[in-house]
Amino acid sequence: MFARATVEICFIEPITFDQLREVFPAARSANLGAPNLEQVDWGVLDYLGWIHPSGHQGFVIVPIQGELRGLTLRRMMNHSARPRSHMCSWCHHVYRGRGTAMFSTEVAGSDGRRRIGNYICSNLDCSLRIRNLSSDPPTYMPETIELKHKVWRLQNSINAFMARANLLADLL
Ligand SMILES: [Zn+2]
Repeated sequence: MFARATVEICFIEPITFDQLREVFPAARSANLGAPNLEQVDWGVLDYLGWIHPSGHQGFVIVPIQGELRGLTLRRMMNHSARPRSHMCSWCHHVYRGRGTAMFSTEVAGSDGRRRIGNYICSNLDCSLRIRNLSSDPPTYMPETIELKHKVWRLQNSINAFMARANLLADLL
């Protein structure tokens, strides 16, 4: 299993807009809705994630084995009538009410026939959540494990998601 083999921690280095375009070559710049990369606080990020201004799309860039890999996600907000606690399946932050969204992506090579999805922090800000840098309430279920283990778990979860989406086949 790919996720198990990956134990090396690699933080994301500051990336340029040209690098970002290389990760998402098919998308036109306007369609990416990328953040101002000069204002990103790279020192606290395990992956770069942002939501397109339309609100329906999310993008993730993550370093895997020294390469930048991208994920294009469709976001569906959680509109259930009765809020209940939800856990982000990537960073394990637990929200007492709303806070996660369903993010799905097409499985590469399936010609759009298969999609996979995860409930993830709705703003793709897992890195801030595990460092308690978000201004929102802290996790509803605090954990005593060290930050490096949370980072490791987060990276493994992303790697596993990308492997399921058939995006890492060339690295196996
Ligand atoms: Zn999260």
